[in-house]
Amino acid sequence: MIRTRFAPSPTGYMHIGNLRTALYEYLIARSNGGKFILRIEDTDQERFVEGAVDVIYKTLKLAGIKPDEGPNIGGEYGPYIQSERKNCYMDYAIQLVEQGDAYYCFCTKERLEGLKVSSKDNIAKYDRHCANLSKQEVDKLIKNNTPFVIRQKIKEGSTTFKDEVYGLITVDNNEIEDQILIKSDGLPTYNFANVIDDHLMNITHVIRGSEYLSSTPKYNLLYEAFGWNIPTYIHVPPVMKNQTEKLSKRNGDASFQDLIEKGYLPQAIVNYVALLGWAPSTNQEIFTMDELIKSFDTSGLSKSPAIFDMTKLTWMNGEYIKNLDFEEFYNIAILKLEDSIKRKDIDLRLIAQYIKTRIGTFNDIAEMVSFIDCVSDYDVSLYKHKKMKTDEELSLKVLSEMIPVMESIDNWDNDTIYETLTDFAAKNSMKNGQVLWPIRTALSGKPTSPCGASELAVLLGKEDTIKRIKDAVLKLSSIN
Ligand code: GLU
Repeated sequence: MIRTRFAPSPTGYMHIGNLRTALYEYLIARSNGGKFILRIEDTDQERFVEGAVDVIYKTLKLAGIKPDEGPNIGGEYGPYIQSERKNCYMDYAIQLVEQGDAYYCFCTKERLEGLKVSSKDNIAKYDRHCANLSKQEVDKLIKNNTPFVIRQKIKEGSTTFKDEVYGLITVDNNEIEDQILIKSDGLPTYNFANVIDDHLMNITHVIRGSEYLSSTPKYNLLYEAFGWNIPTYIHVPPVMKNQTEKLSKRNGDASFQDLIEKGYLPQAIVNYVALLGWAPSTNQEIFTMDELIKSFDTSGLSKSPAIFDMTKLTWMNGEYIKNLDFEEFYNIAILKLEDSIKRKDIDLRLIAQYIKTRIGTFNDIAEMVSFIDCVSDYDVSLYKHKKMKTDEELSLKVLSEMIPVMESIDNWDNDTIYETLTDFAAKNSMKNGQVLWPIRTALSGKPTSPCGASELAVLLGKEDTIKRIKDAVLKLSSIN
């Protein structure tokens, strides 16, 4: 059975690249009837971030990526936490020492610093100073409580492995450092705990960022030393912000949580992220999670880095918003509408119907309805419109004449208002746009509005509509 895991180190936020890794792990498991688990790799106490585990767990839940196994948390499967398993790793390291595949290292920080300083690039490989200490020497040093680490003994030769995305990779073992497996605090490095846990948790497929390609030979040498099966590797290229820079929260790029705060829907983000580096076999772009599970295939993964395109994400989010059931949309939109509209006489459900098909994110609502409480100052050149065949002068004439016509309307509903406006156009041998455009502009003071002239008039009510037209007449008169 296919078993995958998402193994983040808790940093306090969810990178878009990490979300994509988690999603691919989940999809590979689910599309093959396998199991997906979440494992928090937190053995590096120096990098511990308070609350970070919770962020990962909640973020995945919001994204619809749920573990199929793990400790029970309120009736759901939670994450395995490496620091809670810390006692199991030492025995494996000792086994390697006994086999000759690892050794105790007693080098001091100062000695290691010295190696760095004397190296050309300031990143010296460990010089194996302790690799050949005799058993007696080691026992004596341990007995004297000399601090130690345990290092992997990299053997001579080369290591070749196959990656599903990058193909066959061969590395000369000379280039690989005798990495630390157990740190001086007795805890495993994440490189070591990662391999032990992948084995103990029967992980069959490891999906992770391509930055781990260079560590993979070290992992494989560990698997070989233990005589364990090596998992299938699927390394994915980084998510980029442009041709040359990686998308990075540290450089101010949006994390998953930031996007949620910016008004994006979790399902839309997940859908977009799935396509960053994976091409489905058809040109379908909008996928539910179930559809992703059905369609996902590792052969569609690419090794060229994908560029995160905010415009495309916003388009996709808009499509998700359009497809939301109205009540579901309204329940989210109402919060923004109530924040942005202070007038109490506005039919918020009606405005919600108009905006549903016109926003990219829920945060667009504030700007879109900002004219409802009052029209902000706008430039009269808005009345000039080539396609509508109108300008400031004609608009002034139309608006002035419309005032008594609008005042005479008894049934203030959309059909009546629309007919009145278009009748006026017909009677005066004008195009509809020559009447509708100035009215729409006078009522909204904006180049675009969530609905047309007659709908705006209904929303604002008769009194305010006529007042706004009068204000527009004054504004246009003052330019002549
Ligand atoms: N803890 C590593 C990370 O946060 C996981 C690497 C892996 O998936 O093997 O990137």
